[in-house]
Amino acid sequence: MGLIGFKCCKASRKYDTGEFVSFSECISCAETTLNKCHFTAPIIKAMIDREQEERDSITVTQLSGCLRESYLSHKYDYYADPEQLYFAFRGELAHLIIERHQEKDAVAEQRFYRECTGIKISGRPDVILPNKKLIRDYKTAKEVPRFNYPFRNHSQQLNLYAWLVPFEIERLQVVYLDMKGVKICEAPLWSEKEVEALLEKKLPVLDAAFNRGSIPFADFDNWQCNGWCNVKTICRKLYEDELISGIRTVS
Ligand code: SF4
Repeated sequence: MGLIGFKCCKASRKYDTGEFVSFSECISCAETTLNKCHFTAPIIKAMIDREQEERDSITVTQLSGCLRESYLSHKYDYYADPEQLYFAFRGELAHLIIERHQEKDAVAEQRFYRECTGIKISGRPDVILPNKKLIRDYKTAKEVPRFNYPFRNHSQQLNLYAWLVPFEIERLQVVYLDMKGVKICEAPLWSEKEVEALLEKKLPVLDAAFNRGSIPFADFDNWQCNGWCNVKTICRKLYEDELISGIRTVS
């Protein structure tokens, strides 16, 4: 279950049939080099690889976003828009280059695990500089924030990383990259108690969803809802059913 293919997107609306294609169909089409979209086969393969990383625990990324999206994208087959995945792929490219030029003592791209109330959580911060007691995450964006602090979900993600990793952490930084420049935003460091309060709120919801199939409430105010959710169609359909059956559906 999960991402199984792409919504075929053509460079021109004239060619855009909106059909759904499997990964292999998409790659084969690009390998002809006669494809009507602008994705080459290596770019498509890299986007697929990135999405198919095996996970054996609830991840910090799943906890930081819309919990309903985390569950539905795990439970249901869905097709993604390659243009949307490309954004994440671009971030990955930046990570690869940055990883190659890291400081000597940096711990980069390593997955860490910790348990909370018997539930295993994992996360992979971009870079930890243990000697500086710092976690740094790189984010590609359309535009770097105009303000000097990170977006709320990024602050939350970094604080979950600080709780997760076996290093003493005193500073959290999000490094935003857009096409014009770079901006470092410092995130406020939460206390262990604050992080655990967040985990106590979110973790049981996701655990119940994954283990017992209880669907998390919709969170329409979430940033992902604004054009960044691959399971929006599934969510809306379920929401209609939930409304008809009279169950509370929105958090
Ligand atoms: S459409 Fe919005 S509420 Fe529904 S799963 Fe996606 S992000 Fe969450």
